[in-house]
Amino acid sequence: MSDKMGFETLQIHAGNNPDPATGARQVPIYQTTAFVFRDADHAAALFNLQEVGWIYSRLTNPTVAALAERITALEGGVGGICCSSGHAAQIMALFPLMMPGCNVVASTRLYGGTYTQLTQTIKRFGWSAKLVDFDDLDAVKASIDENTRAIFCESIANPGGYITDLDAIGKLADEMGLPLIVDNTTASPYLCRPIEHGATLVVHSTTKYLTGNGTVTGGAIVDSGKFDWSASDKFPSLSQPEAAYHGLNFHEALGPMAFTFHSIAVGLRDLGMTMNPQGAHYTLMGIETLSLRMDRHVANAQKVAKWLEGDDRIEKVTYAGLESSPYYDRISRICPKGAGALFTFTIKGGYEACVKLVDSVELFSHVANLGDARSLIIHPASTTHRQLSDEQREAAGAAPNSIRLSIGIESTDDIIADLDQALSKAVG
Ligand SMILES: *Cc1c(COP(=O)(O)O)cnc(C)c1O
Repeated sequence: MSDKMGFETLQIHAGNNPDPATGARQVPIYQTTAFVFRDADHAAALFNLQEVGWIYSRLTNPTVAALAERITALEGGVGGICCSSGHAAQIMALFPLMMPGCNVVASTRLYGGTYTQLTQTIKRFGWSAKLVDFDDLDAVKASIDENTRAIFCESIANPGGYITDLDAIGKLADEMGLPLIVDNTTASPYLCRPIEHGATLVVHSTTKYLTGNGTVTGGAIVDSGKFDWSASDKFPSLSQPEAAYHGLNFHEALGPMAFTFHSIAVGLRDLGMTMNPQGAHYTLMGIETLSLRMDRHVANAQKVAKWLEGDDRIEKVTYAGLESSPYYDRISRICPKGAGALFTFTIKGGYEACVKLVDSVELFSHVANLGDARSLIIHPASTTHRQLSDEQREAAGAAPNSIRLSIGIESTDDIIADLDQALSKAVG
């Protein structure tokens, strides 16, 4: 499959050739833990990474590999791996780069779970995060120190209707000799291709739009293959003999595939955050219609956001697709096909009215998820962002009277009618 083919072709065909054993047209679910070696030499070559093949499904599996290849093609990278969840992908992306004492400079505008993962949980590994406003490039630059090993942000940030200026951050990362990791979950590669804006690694929660129907959790990392891991001594796991893999120098031996192979041979081998073949199958099915769904998600979100903005029960709508958004001018550059389908709005009546609203919707589902074909609603302050302080919630765009919507692909009129009746009950 040529990577030059169009997005709509790649989302169906990349990573999938007819099964050599049976001719099966769809990607078979290789529901097996282990793979039989041809002979002892074959086994040795596989373990030495001299030959690419299948050993054990914690490392690689043909169904999961087909999905990794497809997401890699859609993002325009050179290699990729799949993980058990989006959060697993984030840890796996940082793992080859970080050591105890190292830090990652991250945007304040993050998915609530990522906020907690980066500010709290990674401390257990001796890693830390410095959170900065990514619209303040001087502040981002000032927060980078000799122990910084990565810069992390989201393309369309969850949940505040914020679009990161990836070109500016990518340029800064380049100047500072650091890899830029972009969480592209809420945009999907159809709306945004972070590698074209300077990202080194792209991470995904495939749980969301890539699967698209709320069935399985999963994650992915795509490597651009563009970062020179040997340009400094900051990334010894990749540029020096790796003690965890019999002294192999991954960058020297594997060039642009160094990160991908390290992630399999050391990361998945020892951390085990592996995607299972059944999960990969569901995501492969979902991805086939990604472009069709995203077009519809965007069209619906645009109409719903516009309607909300004109309603006097609403204070403010944060959708970047509205001309009133301070990020409106970034869309054509960063997300040329639209601003996604995830946004927040604040309502008159505060916290209590928000609780009433989520209890009054009928078509919308009140769930902690996004990127489903169904329209979803949540009140971040009482759920996903509950564990943050008021100040942190404000910075993340999750004020007490703020509601987050993930607009589905249903009939637009039905989505609007449901919000209308629920707002009547909540605000009057
Ligand atoms: C959901 C989500 C994650 C975490 O993914 P899981 O699959 O739930 O682990 C990370 N980033 C963003 C932007 C998300 O929406």
